[in-house]
Amino acid sequence: MCYNAPMFEVVFLGTSASAPSIRRGLPAAIVLHREYRFLVDCGEGTQRQLLRSGLGFRRLDKILLTHGHLDHILGLAGLASTFSRWEMIDKMEIYGGKWALDRVEDLMRVVFGRHRPPIKISLIALEPGVVMEDDLFQLRAFPVTHRGPGNFGFVFQEKARSPFLAEKAEALGVPAGPERAQLVRGQSIVLSDGRTIRPQDVLGPERPGTKLVFVGDAARTDDLLEPAQGADALIIESTYTSLEADVAREFNHLTARQSAELARDAGVEHLILHHISRRYAEQEILEEAAAIFPGVVVARDLDHYEIRRGAPLTRIERDRRPSQVSQNHE
Ligand SMILES: [Zn+2]
Ligand SMILES: [Zn+2]
Repeated sequence: MCYNAPMFEVVFLGTSASAPSIRRGLPAAIVLHREYRFLVDCGEGTQRQLLRSGLGFRRLDKILLTHGHLDHILGLAGLASTFSRWEMIDKMEIYGGKWALDRVEDLMRVVFGRHRPPIKISLIALEPGVVMEDDLFQLRAFPVTHRGPGNFGFVFQEKARSPFLAEKAEALGVPAGPERAQLVRGQSIVLSDGRTIRPQDVLGPERPGTKLVFVGDAARTDDLLEPAQGADALIIESTYTSLEADVAREFNHLTARQSAELARDAGVEHLILHHISRRYAEQEILEEAAAIFPGVVVARDLDHYEIRRGAPLTRIERDRRPSQVSQNHE
């Protein structure tokens, strides 16, 4: 077990808005944290992207929906159908707003008819607040304004904790093994020579954990300022540029400028844009956002990022070689 490796990884499976383009599939992403794997949205074509990403279907039983528009949920029908014929997965937990879940229920009725699904499918209605947590990690949902009711964004946050100082432990003669885990959990240990080692002997001062904020489609940003505050990375839609600010407003989407201003005002470290209309070249979105938030990146399908507090944003190449893509934003 590694005590000092706080981080999230995100793999973008689809980064287009509304309809796919040759290069971009419909919205879906995976957030990885320790043993957790969260599929966030599941547009049409997600199954094949999962295979192409090398992640596959294993342990993919937690699905978070930002909202119920078809470009974000249609892939669930195919995924449920595959899972029902594949013994590695026996359950799916799908979290979303009530309206989104009603639509998912309709989809499942189409897939399974009147038969009982051979896997357990739980539809779990989201409310703002904590969705799940353990000793080290918390997932929270917050409301997002978009078309229709019950849209949510997600905060993936590691809990604050004190780093384990391996050199100090070494110097005190704490053996590598379960004793160290006990100290990390806040319990004192007694060594074989009778000395007592207290947690504060081997733990540094408490440090806040990494915070990743994920927003799908959104119509405004003023209500996102609080949840995005101080995030190490903000992932948010950027469907249009300011040239079509009126269209963005009409369809309840954001421009690159609006998303970049939010990142700046919320003091986030890194900004990753997704949900890009196929009317735009990536460069147009990037240039508009970078004028406000330098170091911004526009996610491409199968991009794999590592997000770690205090560290540059790192893209993991397909051969697993990390490459730094953006400095911390000043
Ligand atoms: Zn959308
Ligand atoms: Zn939408």
